[in-house]
Amino acid sequence: MEEMWRLVIMGAPGAGKGTLAERISGELGIAHIATGDILRAAVEAGTKLGQEAQKYLEAGELVPDEVVNGIVGERLAQEDCVRGFLLDGFPRTVEQAKALNGILTGRGEELSRVLVVEVEPEVIVRRLSGRRVCLNCGATYQVETLPPRVEGVCDICGGKLVQRPDDQPATIRHRLVVYEEQTKPLIEYYEQQGLVTRVDNSGAIGMAVEAALAALRAGSEK
Ligand code: AMP
Repeated sequence: MEEMWRLVIMGAPGAGKGTLAERISGELGIAHIATGDILRAAVEAGTKLGQEAQKYLEAGELVPDEVVNGIVGERLAQEDCVRGFLLDGFPRTVEQAKALNGILTGRGEELSRVLVVEVEPEVIVRRLSGRRVCLNCGATYQVETLPPRVEGVCDICGGKLVQRPDDQPATIRHRLVVYEEQTKPLIEYYEQQGLVTRVDNSGAIGMAVEAALAALRAGSEK
């Protein structure tokens, strides 16, 4: 029988969640749904939804649940989700997790697994504090693992590379504490349902992808 994956991925800032989500959804042939990307695109396009969401995004605050839940409900009804999906950036709260449950239950479905990406805090600090962003085109680099050809200059457009203010070590540590506090109840909620699989991403990304896929496939044979 064809495998059906309904997944959620969670992880701290700098844990490599986005990259892992991209790779895992590609390997499994399922839709990668990143609520942050959907919201940013709506703001960019100036849709009604975008106008509603803009002030929250600019302040770095959560968009109200009814807005985000609505987006996810509509997105999950699209055709590319027939083989499954990987939700990235949603749910962010227990309330949203319950809403997701409601959406799925209404369709006679349930979540298969929740992937929690874990990395040692000091590794995250090293990765993020080495991140450089192009002021002109937004391309990102990493001084150790993905350096530009010329220091401080974007390979793509020649723009100036800078460090984002929130990528300073002290700020990164603070963001990690905030993440921990916010997501703890959500992880506990999914732990209680026996849905959590932890994936260590302190090493090479390829290893984390393999470990996640192996864990998913092993779980599905139970
Ligand atoms: P992200 O790209 O996941 O960091 O999301 C960027 C921004 O989009 C967040 O700071 C929030 O303002 C908004 N956002 C994304 N996902 C959610 C969500 N599940 N609930 C509320 N707001 C969200």
